[in-house]
Amino acid sequence: MAPFWLGTSWKMTKTLDEAAAYADDLRSAVEAGSVPPEVRLFVLPAATALASVRDRLAGTGVALGSQNAHPGPDGAVTGEVSMSMVRDAGASIVEIGHAERRTLLSETDDMVADKVAAAVSAGLRPLICVGETSAERAGGVTQDVLARQLRHALSRLGTLRPIELLVAYEPHWAIGDGGRTATPGEAAEGLAVVRRVLAEDLADTPTAVLYGGSVHAGNAAGLVTGLDVDGLFVGRAAWTAPGLLDIARRC
Ligand code: PGA
Repeated sequence: MAPFWLGTSWKMTKTLDEAAAYADDLRSAVEAGSVPPEVRLFVLPAATALASVRDRLAGTGVALGSQNAHPGPDGAVTGEVSMSMVRDAGASIVEIGHAERRTLLSETDDMVADKVAAAVSAGLRPLICVGETSAERAGGVTQDVLARQLRHALSRLGTLRPIELLVAYEPHWAIGDGGRTATPGEAAEGLAVVRRVLAEDLADTPTAVLYGGSVHAGNAAGLVTGLDVDGLFVGRAAWTAPGLLDIARRC
């Protein structure tokens, strides 16, 4: 059976002690058998906590990822960490193109494409985030925006192929405080565009398509049931281990 991916980005939160406590809670839950076997958990700590969380989750099957990495080769780029460095610190996944990076840090489609190619070269699974703004949705261009973002993200792969590719449909208006979770119909529309582009541009690669944006324990089951979705990507509601585990039980 294909796994159901359930993951969280801790974004810019957690001291090392808090990260360790979360990882220990997750380890206990996995060892107690309280995570449904089909659920494939993943956690994206801040870069500072990657190595310590790796050590605490070793052997649990919980996958670890980075929220970002620089596409260039290791060298003189002050303040950045490279794909190979996050891999060395324990990441098997790297998130690329999150809405907050696109809007707060001006990450462009070109930068996303460079990162996707660099991640694959480094042996990482890219987790590509795509999503439209509320203005784009209101303007009726949601499908065009999603297809453009994903096509561009894949455009520099050349003959490189990821061992596995994760794509999260995350409408920008659904993310964070004040966000409104997509209705099943809105989510289905975005997920379908992602699947269509993947089938056209990367048919030979195993892929998983996730939904993210204001997911919580109260709406997870409703999003999963009836949607053609391979996983959920959660922010705030999974910033505690019990929060993530509560969602896992409803998937
Ligand atoms: P949220 O964040 O669950 O807090 O809305 C989702 C995300 O940014 O992936």
